[in-house]
Amino acid sequence: MPGAFSSRARIFLLTRRPNKLVFCRGLADAAVERLSVETKTSQLMKFLRNCLAIWVALQLTVVAAWAGAAWGMEGVALPPEGDGKLRIICFGAHPDDCEIQAGGTAMLWAKRGHHVLFVSVTNGDIGHWREAGGPLAQRRRMEVAEAHKILGIQGVVLDIHDGELLPTLENRRLITKLIRQWKADVVIAHRPNDYHPDHRYTGVLVQDAAYMVTVPFFCPDVPAMKKNPAFFYFPDRFQKPNPFKPDVMVSVDAVMEKKLDALGVMESQFYEGGANGSAALIPSDPEKQKARHQQVRDGFSRRNQALADRFRAQLADWYPADKAAAVKHAEGFELCEYGAQPDKTQLKKLFPFFD
Ligand SMILES: [Zn+2]
Repeated sequence: MPGAFSSRARIFLLTRRPNKLVFCRGLADAAVERLSVETKTSQLMKFLRNCLAIWVALQLTVVAAWAGAAWGMEGVALPPEGDGKLRIICFGAHPDDCEIQAGGTAMLWAKRGHHVLFVSVTNGDIGHWREAGGPLAQRRRMEVAEAHKILGIQGVVLDIHDGELLPTLENRRLITKLIRQWKADVVIAHRPNDYHPDHRYTGVLVQDAAYMVTVPFFCPDVPAMKKNPAFFYFPDRFQKPNPFKPDVMVSVDAVMEKKLDALGVMESQFYEGGANGSAALIPSDPEKQKARHQQVRDGFSRRNQALADRFRAQLADWYPADKAAAVKHAEGFELCEYGAQPDKTQLKKLFPFFD
């Protein structure tokens, strides 16, 4: 403190003059007393400053913990700021939809260091013919976490009952906050016309968030996005009111075996047949079990082959003719009319797989 320093300097100077000793002693005593008061004041100020710093740190810790817990991001490591990598968030209605629809492309992104988060909007707790409720939700959470490990991505399962998702204001807020927290460049979800109500309402909720993510006073507790992400749809075969029409087609041949490995670990859904399965699907003989696993694998392989065949012409928009003709397995995405509207050059930056 400048005051304390000047008092000390005065004591030093005065005690160097013996002919004024008494006077000096008096001044020195006064200065020491003043120094003592100033020291006490300084210590008090320091103590108060420390208290304030501890209080602020505690408040920030509480806010941070609450923020992470409140919006379904538990256990998710948010990507580092400004690392120049893409951030992709996919919303599937159930713990298997994103993996089926975008597992290969997610792996291609992840291999290039981009950040992918798969969100299951419901917990899948009625998705089995024999079991249901909490134990099934936990089983599916573990299965999908194992699949994400294989794909090299992150995932979350929101605790909303399977078969009961509604496009409520509460859920619109939830989806909006997740997209903002992930600071997404790309958002992918179901189309809002689909056989399953949870798929439909996931599509509606993500559409509803497409503009609201940019509106500062909607959910002002999570900062609004300055740049609107590009929103895309997963493919489906529904024709009314309009069929799926891909804007980007991606060859997933390079990662197809790993994608099939990831789908294979979700045994409750595929090996055992999920909600429409039965005991007849699960053989006791080890050889037949192996055959059943292969049957699941072949089924998903055919699914991505069918997509490549159905949109072979669109594959040629993205790959040289000879390569487009040779693509065996593909995934495709349709650009939503809401949100950012990237042109082909920008699409190549968001899906950096074509050079
Ligand atoms: Zn589903």
